[in-house]
Amino acid sequence: MIKTDYDLVIIGAGPAGLTAGIYSARARMNVLLLEKAVPGGQILITDWIENYPGFPEGISGYDLSEKMKIQAESLGLKIESAEVHSLNLSGEAKEIILKDRTITTKSLIIASGASPRKLGIGEDKFFGKGVSFCATCDGPFFRDKIVVAIGGGDTAIQESIFLTKFAKKVYLVHRRNELRATKILQERAYKNEKIEFVWDSVVTGVEGFFGVEGVKVKNLKTNEEKTITANGCFIWVGILPNTAFLNGSVKTDEFGFIKADEKMQTSVPGVFAAGDVRDTPLRQIATAVGDAAIAAVCSEHYIENLS
Ligand code: NAP
Repeated sequence: MIKTDYDLVIIGAGPAGLTAGIYSARARMNVLLLEKAVPGGQILITDWIENYPGFPEGISGYDLSEKMKIQAESLGLKIESAEVHSLNLSGEAKEIILKDRTITTKSLIIASGASPRKLGIGEDKFFGKGVSFCATCDGPFFRDKIVVAIGGGDTAIQESIFLTKFAKKVYLVHRRNELRATKILQERAYKNEKIEFVWDSVVTGVEGFFGVEGVKVKNLKTNEEKTITANGCFIWVGILPNTAFLNGSVKTDEFGFIKADEKMQTSVPGVFAAGDVRDTPLRQIATAVGDAAIAAVCSEHYIENLS
């Protein structure tokens, strides 16, 4: 069998990466988990999770990711803080190129997740000055203030409801007149008196001097434009896969999400994908951990079958 630094390297320490780590550490594989930021992934910016089984009262994203990390490390999983620059998957020994060195592995699980999509409405100029992607992180700054939220999916609705704990008013701007979010969240949002829906509309810009003072909104049906006076603007218009390091080394769909089969194997044998980075019909913690368990076990089988 080929000699490599590791049997398995996992990229990303969100729920998928940590779950793959738990399974492979229990299988006593020689495994390393690489994470470029802090373990937890997107759930770190989720204030309250109430659809992950086993927590009838709900649990904060931070607490759930901490529990996963403690469980993985107690089983012996090694987690290293390092950003993957690129991959060379052409040989049987797969190369992972980091800033300061290259490591080799027999098998790889890509669980690098996804990040919030931007709209190009001044996010970079106003980020940290009223523009945010994270209600958990920034919501408390908007106590008794007016904010605009953008999007109609689960994230926009759930996080807007959370924002009403602080803000006196949340204008929720959505480009259609129907929400994409799951029905239970819709019902809660419609009942919430602090949320006012701005239908069939898009945000075209953010105005302000030192920070956000107003948000420009255009109605797509009437073309009418107006500025909503607000101190904050939260953007929740979907996610993009964290795959910059892939550079075409595995097949993806047209949006860049990795294609994988029912064993979570990608177009390259021995390379698996799990969680939000995968081309999947549902992106939940429950589906991410399911993907990851399959990927870890199939990675173990892949190595056993190497001659
Ligand atoms: P999403 O489901 O893709 O929704 C994105 C929303 O942004 C949609 O309403 C979309 O409008 C809108 N949008 C997209 N591009 C836009 C643009 N250029 N301008 C204006 N609006 C735009 O994304 P998400 O809400 O972040 O959710 C991502 C995944 O995580 C989903 O699978 C979701 O179910 C999951 N999630 C689940 C929970 C939960 O279960 N509690 C919580 C958070 C996230 P259209 O509707 O018109 O396309």
